[in-house]
Amino acid sequence: MNAFQLKNGELHAEGVPLSAIAQQCGTPTYVYSRAAMTEAYQAYADAGRRADGSAATQVQFAMKSNSSLAVLNVFARLGAGFDIVSGGELERVLAAGGDPRKVVFSGVGKSETEMRLALSHDVACFNVESIPELHRLSAVAAAMGKRARVSLRVNPDVDAGTHPYISTGLKNNKFGIAFEQVLGAYRAAATLPGIDIAGIDCHIGSQITQVTPYLDALDKVLELVERLESEGIKIHHLDLGGGLGITYDDETPPQIGEFVSALLVHLTHRGHGHRQVLFEPGRSLVGNAGLLLTKVEFLKPGAAKNFCIVDAAMNDLARPAMYEAYHGIRPVKPHIDAKADVYDVVGPVCESGDWLGRDRSLAVADGDLLAIMSAGAYGFVMSSNYNTRPRAAEVMVDGDRFHVIHDREMVADLMRGERVLP
Ligand SMILES: *Cc1c(COP(=O)(O)O)cnc(C)c1O
Repeated sequence: MNAFQLKNGELHAEGVPLSAIAQQCGTPTYVYSRAAMTEAYQAYADAGRRADGSAATQVQFAMKSNSSLAVLNVFARLGAGFDIVSGGELERVLAAGGDPRKVVFSGVGKSETEMRLALSHDVACFNVESIPELHRLSAVAAAMGKRARVSLRVNPDVDAGTHPYISTGLKNNKFGIAFEQVLGAYRAAATLPGIDIAGIDCHIGSQITQVTPYLDALDKVLELVERLESEGIKIHHLDLGGGLGITYDDETPPQIGEFVSALLVHLTHRGHGHRQVLFEPGRSLVGNAGLLLTKVEFLKPGAAKNFCIVDAAMNDLARPAMYEAYHGIRPVKPHIDAKADVYDVVGPVCESGDWLGRDRSLAVADGDLLAIMSAGAYGFVMSSNYNTRPRAAEVMVDGDRFHVIHDREMVADLMRGERVLP
């Protein structure tokens, strides 16, 4: 589905013209499509059903990609679990009406306080990323008279072929337990008083556009599972992480359904078709379900470059500055027959790194609205108040209606809790 299409000469989100949202809410504003999120979720769920209709898979929405309460609530209503990386994210799951017993808790630096919070809400599983973490978790759980269900996160040492900042499955990065140490870690886990072994986990990176790295990682995980079970250590679920890529520009990742089926078919061939499989998708559920609506402030022609200065900036959408990421940029009301010029689309922040798109051919005028596409994942969640810029509003479209799901911040919000010296 493409939830964002031209109708009557104007870009819409589902049935709503984007100009109507800009008029009511101002700019910059994040706009999400409920239908696009629902469709992506259903693609995971449908491909994850066995012939008899039972679920072979559980989708754990990786909420670090978009943690707005209304977004979490849409997924909770669809039956999603959540992959969290902090105690704060667990509080958001609760506030959004999600089920904490469907939460898996990932991350390399869980504090004791976070562990206690998660144990008190009976989360489904801790994805443990180091041996010291295993010992801390066992002690915290035992002190509460509980046992923590765990998966150990294996670092399978496969190259996901993605950007170094979002590749996580190679030996030299901070995530997971090295392949060679995993067996020993499981043996230790089996003896700890506060630990119940539930599964095994891996997550090899993000914006992955091929199935092969996943199949390679799965083979390594299965090798471990077979070794562990031969020693009497039972592994109930396989958590294959997230990371499936989306089309920002001309990438051609597998469709969600194809991707899930390829992994399940491979599992069956290897004799593990009966296992429960968890996925932790973030980007592939929300990335193309959102855009950032912005307004042109000035056109600034230059000797070497033309700049199109808009009211959104790197503090609103960090991905271009952070990863040199590409986002499509579309005029909300294209000027038919007008001559296009080539622009760098930049924000007002005082940094040369503050750009949203480079060398874009656009026919634009002051005051026009532009849509920065594919901004539903790692967009608002990474926004900051740099330059004392209040964060954008967020809107969810649902059919012909839209709902403000997060008010635009006010400058007063930014100064809350600050004080000058007496
Ligand atoms: C970031 C992350 C995800 C989600 O990655 P996407 O590329 O957004 O699908 C899933 N699991 C873990 C452990 C992560 O850190």
